[in-house]
Amino acid sequence: MIEVQDIRAGYGAINILWDVSISVRPGELTTIIGPNGAGKTTLLRAIMGLLPLAQGSILLNGKVLTDTPTWRMPDLGVVMIPEGRMIFKDMTIEENLMLGAFSPRHRAASRRQCEKAYQMFPRLYERRNQRAGTLSGGEAQMLAMGRGLMADPKVLIIDEPSLGLAPVVVNELFQTLSRLKEEGRTIILVEQSTHRAVGVADQVYLLQSGKVVLSERASNIDMEHLHELYFAH
Ligand code: ATP
Repeated sequence: MIEVQDIRAGYGAINILWDVSISVRPGELTTIIGPNGAGKTTLLRAIMGLLPLAQGSILLNGKVLTDTPTWRMPDLGVVMIPEGRMIFKDMTIEENLMLGAFSPRHRAASRRQCEKAYQMFPRLYERRNQRAGTLSGGEAQMLAMGRGLMADPKVLIIDEPSLGLAPVVVNELFQTLSRLKEEGRTIILVEQSTHRAVGVADQVYLLQSGKVVLSERASNIDMEHLHELYFAH
């Protein structure tokens, strides 16, 4: 579904990703794990077209994405839920949700999608007219996910959703990820919580200093070996 082929990318003169290749299969949850600064967010940004590639290419359903502007990605069925959630605190929850259906193509179905988001996250419905700044961390993450779902994406790219959340809230979040997968969505997940990420994933990539050092089916992962690689420098 998404093929990242041998890419190099970074910021200005600084290269971060070195010959990175990953393959995301439809309907699967692919997780990208790795220590701080390994380049996980940079890889997600490259997929979304937020960074120019110095080498390699990225394909969606066999078509090269290079030069596709980021704002067109939801129309192609790909939505990113960024780290930090990017909620507009002074807008209501419903106004934040509606922003997820910004393109004309999705605006027509926005009411229906909004109802679906409320079904998945009933707490957002209860608070729909409140300022988003009043939400707890877990609720804000739900809002960010709900907003991403407004475009009814085939592929959801989620960057560190569990950041700063209490363990019980993280459990709920991972249940939501499983539900999204059951709905047939393809998910790319960047996570700090390695155990949980591997537990929910089909395919695992470990990034280390901008390179893929492990590519393995989640069912074949030996956690001890994974930790050795994770902490190796
Ligand atoms: P974390 O788990 O801490 O979020 P990460 O694996 O997602 O880490 P990235 O955010 O992709 O890592 O960062 C990889 C490297 O790129 C880091 O060394 C970081 O300092 C650098 N970097 C990130 N954003 C920028 C930027 N806008 N300009 C310059 N360098 C950047």
